[in-house]
Order: sequence, then structure tokens, then C-alpha cells
Amino acid sequence: MIKLLAKLGRFNTVTFITIGAAAASVAITATAASILNNSGYNIRIDIAIAFAACITVLIVPPISWFLVGSMLKIYRVEEKMRRLASYDSLTGLFSRHSFFDSANNYLSLAKREKIVFSVMIIDLDKFKLINDKYGHPAGDAVLKLFADVVNSVARRSDVVGRLGGEEFAIVLPNTTTREAIEFSGRLHDAINKAVLKYNEVFISYTASIGLTAFDPDTSDNIDDLLARADLALYQAKRAGRNQTATFNPDIKQVATG
Ligand code: GH3
Ligand code: MG
Ligand code: MG
Repeated sequence: MIKLLAKLGRFNTVTFITIGAAAASVAITATAASILNNSGYNIRIDIAIAFAACITVLIVPPISWFLVGSMLKIYRVEEKMRRLASYDSLTGLFSRHSFFDSANNYLSLAKREKIVFSVMIIDLDKFKLINDKYGHPAGDAVLKLFADVVNSVARRSDVVGRLGGEEFAIVLPNTTTREAIEFSGRLHDAINKAVLKYNEVFISYTASIGLTAFDPDTSDNIDDLLARADLALYQAKRAGRNQTATFNPDIKQVATG
């Protein structure tokens, strides 16, 4: 309802309300006047109708203008709050909270339909050094650039979120481990190519990735999957950074590459 109001806009909504109110008051006045006339009164129906219409047109627009305006203001504030809660304000990616929401929804679907998918955690390497060397605003610009790079490589159906700081996660629907490794290779390449030019200085960075696959036959939840991806990420860091490591559920260890 309020969405329809927002779509129509304040002016159109007030116009519709006024027309509706005028039509209703004319109909009620005409009915009341004719009932009274049938009971012996002598009321001029045309004058009664004109009076009702004029009163409505004078009173309804200012009141509804104020009320509709207040409702739209509240709606816009709520929308803004929803947007702020759903998306990370720096990168425009899903916030941690909405990433978990979307990832859990997809996991339930995948369990029901027995769909394979992959999850990866991406952590930018030595990011503290970037801040220290170029300044915090430059670090922010790198984070924004990284978000653009991920979006350019990811599919529309992929769920990409910022877990916090310089750490991100992606759910890759319908994607096997092999396909996820290919994806991470494309992502490493894209990161290498997208050097940031900030205040005439070129800033390059790398990322380490830990990935794991969802097995529809086990009762994983998204926290388990992220914990496994995190173990793999730790391995990628230990093996020298700027690489992807995969968690192997069979031997409960990690392979880098
Ligand atoms: P590693 O390769 O082991 O991940 O090293 P690292 O330096 O990336 O990791 P560490 O956890 O030591 O440092 C993360 C840094 O990320 C420190 C913090 O100031 C920075 N950071 C976190 N959030 C933001 C942000 O929103 N903007 C900027 N510019 N920096 C951020
Ligand atoms: Mg890091
Ligand atoms: Mg980190």
C-alpha cells in the first residue's frame, strides 16, 4: 500500500484521495437528501451536493497533503534504514547480516533440491601495509575497487558479501569445487589486472582465497561451510598468500593451488 503511494507520488495521491472523498460525500449527501425528502422534508438536492463537494474539496487536500507527506517521509527513512542494514555502505556489497540471510536461504534450497554449491572466503593480503603506506582513504578505495572486480567476475546469482574489514565471502550456486577453483583463478587474474590509480600513485594488491563445497548429503550449515573455507584461507595465507586453497572434506585437510 505505502509502496503504491510512493510510486504515485504525493500530488497524485492527494488528487486521488480528494476525488474519492468528493465522490463519496456527493453520493452520501444525495442519498441522505433524497431519504429526507421522502420523509417530507424539502431539500434542494443540487445545492446539497454542490455544498458537500465544495466542503470536501476545501478540507481534504490540505489534510491529506500533510498526512501523505508524513507517511512518505517515514517510508523513505525506513527504506534508507533497510538499505543501510542490507548493504555495506563502502562497497555496496551485501552486509554481513544479509549475506548470512541469503546464504542460509540458498543452503536450505540446495539441501531440499540436492544442489551442489561452493563457498569461498576472500581476504585481501597485507592490507594493513596498504593503509600504512598509502593512507586509510586509499585503503577504502582499494576495497571499493575490489568490490567492482568481484562483481565483474561473479554471476548475478552469486551471493557476494563483506564479512567485515578486508574479508569477503561468496556463495557460488550450482558450482562444483573444480568450477569454483576456475572462478578463483579468474578472480586472481582480474585483481592483478585492476591496479588502482590513487592520487597519481598506482596501488596493486593481492588476495588469498579459501574455498569449500557444500555436500547436499551432509547436514552442513553456512557457519560450518565458512569455518571450513576459513581453514582453507588460513592455509592459503601460510603457503605464501595470493593463492587459493581448497578444503577437502574426505581427508579433512586443505590443498593449495
Ligand atoms: P593478512 O594478509 O594476514 O590478511 O594481513 P592483513 O594486514 O590484511 O591483516 P590484518 O588483520 O593484520 O589487517 C587488516 C587491516 O585491514 C587492518 C585494518 O585497519 C584494515 N581495515 C579493516 N577495515 C578497513 C576499512 O574499512 N578501510 C580500510 N582502509 N582499512 C580497513
Ligand atoms: Mg588481510
Ligand atoms: Mg582479515
